[in-house]
Amino acid sequence: ISRNPGEVEFHQAVHEVASDIIPWMQDHRIYAQEQVLERLCEPDRIISFRVCWHDDNNNIRVNRGYRIQNNNAIGPYKGGLRFHTSVNQSILKFLAFEQTFKNSLTGLPMGGGKGGADFNPRGKSDHEIMRFCQSFMTELYRHVGEDIDVPAGDIGVGGKEIGYMFGQYKRITNQFTGVLTGKGLDYGGSAMRTEATGYGCVYFLIDMLKAANDSLEGKTVLVSGSGNVATYAAEQALLNGAKILTMSDSDGFVYDKNGFTQEKIDWVKDLKIRRRGRISEYAEEFGAEFHQGSRPWGVSCDVALPCATQNEIEGHDAKTLIANGCMAVSEGANMPTLAEGVKAFLDAKVLFAPAKAANAGGVAMSGLEMSQNAGKRSWGGAELSVMLREIMLSIHDRCYEAGNEGGYCNYAKGANIAGFKKVGDAVLAFGVV
Ligand code: NDP
Repeated sequence: ISRNPGEVEFHQAVHEVASDIIPWMQDHRIYAQEQVLERLCEPDRIISFRVCWHDDNNNIRVNRGYRIQNNNAIGPYKGGLRFHTSVNQSILKFLAFEQTFKNSLTGLPMGGGKGGADFNPRGKSDHEIMRFCQSFMTELYRHVGEDIDVPAGDIGVGGKEIGYMFGQYKRITNQFTGVLTGKGLDYGGSAMRTEATGYGCVYFLIDMLKAANDSLEGKTVLVSGSGNVATYAAEQALLNGAKILTMSDSDGFVYDKNGFTQEKIDWVKDLKIRRRGRISEYAEEFGAEFHQGSRPWGVSCDVALPCATQNEIEGHDAKTLIANGCMAVSEGANMPTLAEGVKAFLDAKVLFAPAKAANAGGVAMSGLEMSQNAGKRSWGGAELSVMLREIMLSIHDRCYEAGNEGGYCNYAKGANIAGFKKVGDAVLAFGVV
């Protein structure tokens, strides 16, 4: 804590991993003797830079950009870029730390990184976003590369922003390489990338339910968020017979007692991803309830899929969910549940899929995009869907093996141990570095 003052989110993420790894190291002394956890808690490199750009009124605006290269023991740094006003070093360090274990769980050769800027794309014109992305890449290009560090999208960074940044990278370096993932299909992107995180989150949920002799059919589901992860998670849950009751954004949540149909989900995708509108408009369009300034966790449900952002399920929210009958939670967002919430779920034996396992489908598909770029080929959507399904099942099985406590699986612990062990073994192989 004294080495990283004020970095609350980073402390929270390290504490969550350490609380499982420290007891585990009692029986695996070599990792403690060789200070593996301490080494993984110190990022390889933190890059921070000024991003200047002109707004449409010709004013100069100044933002701060970052790239945290956390660990490349098992492959090039890999992780998204987030553009949001809340971005700071603590949030990006937590995300890069988590990403290291998540990428390890996928079984693909990817290290962990994360980056972004405190730039708010909301309300900006396309030209302003383009100028910002170009200026951001004008510094970032020095630090990334297909075998060095391969960023992707995250909150506020979708296909459009990736396109602007890839264009600028290509312009500066005169190289067409797989330096970013989440690219458009016409210029090296992968089929299924858009769907992968949300679909993967529901695949993990299905595997967890199956291991407990249950299924998603007929279950009621609360989804938070209404962006990329939320809409595709809702879509896949619907495909598996669930009834989706809510979606949200930073203004509040909508409750549709009739359930979200595919048409309604498509309408939300268009509203939030293309038109950058507000979820309250859904209530007007479909006659649903809008709850201003609240999260959806007070609605009775069988399953919760937090897919908006970090720290959106507090201890009291978890207790409300449990009291109302929630029996499974699969985290689409990164670290959406606070430590007290996780503890409440585990104590109540709720099936709890932690983000580093449940939302790994997106980065897994990014890893497959890197493979396609390196091999100068592209695989079809059907083939990639099968690969995604298999990867999510293998992540589930790794977590199950390390977290099964006889009758109840602690997936949070399983994900931490399985993710840590692979990176830790590589760190040990390298000696003191
Ligand atoms: P988007 O930008 O597409 O959507 C984010 C959604 O969350 C929006 O509905 C947004 O609402 C809402 N949101 C953001 N901040 C807050 C807040 N403070 N309170 C309430 N709602 C909020 O992002 P993604 O769907 O891509 O990402 C969502 C989460 O999933 C993040 O935690 C991200 O790190 C994680 N993730 C994403 C992956 C991906 O492939 N996209 C991969 C792995 C993890 P509003 O419109 O009001 O801002």
